[in-house]
Amino acid sequence: MSLTYLNRACCPPAPYSTSNANARPKADADANVKATPKPKAVFAMLMLAIGLSGCGSATDNANWHKGNLHTHSLWSDGDHFPEMIVDWYASRDYNFLAISDHNTLQEGNRWRTLPAAVGLDGIDRLDAYRARFGDDWAEHIDSSGTTWVRLKTLEEYRGLFESDDFLLFQSEEITDGYDGHPIHLNATNIQRMIAPQQGSSVFDVLQRNVDAVLAQREETGERIVPHVNHPNFVWGLTPADLVFLQGEQFFEVYNGHPAVRNEGDSTHLSMEDLWDVVLAERLVRGGDVLYGIATDDAHNFLRLGLDVSNPGRGWIMVNADQLGTEPILEAMERGAFYASSGVTLSGVHFDGSTLTVSVDPGDVEKGAFRIDFVTTTTDYPATGGDEYTEIDIFEANGSSGNIASSISGTEGSYTLRDNDLYVRAVVTSGRLKENPYQEGDFEQAWVQPVLPGQAAFTLGSVQ
Ligand SMILES: [Zn+2]
Ligand SMILES: [Zn+2]
Repeated sequence: MSLTYLNRACCPPAPYSTSNANARPKADADANVKATPKPKAVFAMLMLAIGLSGCGSATDNANWHKGNLHTHSLWSDGDHFPEMIVDWYASRDYNFLAISDHNTLQEGNRWRTLPAAVGLDGIDRLDAYRARFGDDWAEHIDSSGTTWVRLKTLEEYRGLFESDDFLLFQSEEITDGYDGHPIHLNATNIQRMIAPQQGSSVFDVLQRNVDAVLAQREETGERIVPHVNHPNFVWGLTPADLVFLQGEQFFEVYNGHPAVRNEGDSTHLSMEDLWDVVLAERLVRGGDVLYGIATDDAHNFLRLGLDVSNPGRGWIMVNADQLGTEPILEAMERGAFYASSGVTLSGVHFDGSTLTVSVDPGDVEKGAFRIDFVTTTTDYPATGGDEYTEIDIFEANGSSGNIASSISGTEGSYTLRDNDLYVRAVVTSGRLKENPYQEGDFEQAWVQPVLPGQAAFTLGSVQ
């Protein structure tokens, strides 16, 4: 295995020497792992070998931080060890990651069986893990033909990866449901596990889980951030659920799992259409804005394909002065971020009335980009009812989310009209997404909505 493969062709070099590539963590779980050399990413070459770069265009602005807030490991239904998963992200151009297992935190003494499974490099996953982290670290027992492994806790392994350039969040995907509807809510920076709260309706279950997250936030004083996952997974949630939800300002406009139906169907809104309906219905009621995030929801690290959920499909870029739990989450709550499935922005600027978006084209031709500014006006016939059951929001979709302006190129502006409720922007590249959510997807970025009267801001650099 040549270390030269570890240097990514399209990403900046990692901030540590390749001479540490085979450094092994200390075996003693109680050891101060922060003192051990940072491991280098072997796993990255597995993805490189098959052309999954995961690399966006490099951005010169140091305030942009790339991260994924939704991923699964062997602690629930993901197919690889958490350290191997973190290695995938940390060895690329990501700056933060949350492994968000179902109703599980990565803590306590956890042994599980591990069937043989061959990874992308043709090596069994346990052998790859042992090769990467060492036999002493990779605790396993073979008994009567069954292999048992002990999963390392977040506290045990985080010191191997965290640095000035990389941060791990503790997270949980609170996995609940009602009458066959899955209701999943991520809680980033959670401090203690929250059990599914259950309830008397889909909306009630969702609100109870959000309330439980906010109660822990209040109790601990930590900025714990809920976000609603994949509303269209098994048609779990309706737009009305998000219109009336209190205390929650994020949802997944893009999720990389092949079963989540980002695009909707003939009787269900796409995530973009849902976003516009929810924004319009919230804003005409004086409610809170809703921000869109992109995530991988990665479960599958051993095999790539359209039928599995692989890493590298969706992420967010947060603009913050520093990389840290509080700066990143505080910036997100201000809307100082965008979601991406491949497009990199150099900047977003709002002067109080005009929204300007500037694209970093990387190696894509500038003319291949389209910037769509999407608005809904005050003429929108809000369904108006105060009761959840009074609203048929699917019917309202026809007059929300109109493309008010569409610009070819890497720079575009839109000035809010008197009757605009908000404007948001979607950038679509002419480049097809590698290993996409679905065949034919182009790389995109989603800029957060801005409202009339909102304070001016500048994120990154705008021409
Ligand atoms: Zn889920
Ligand atoms: Zn998930």
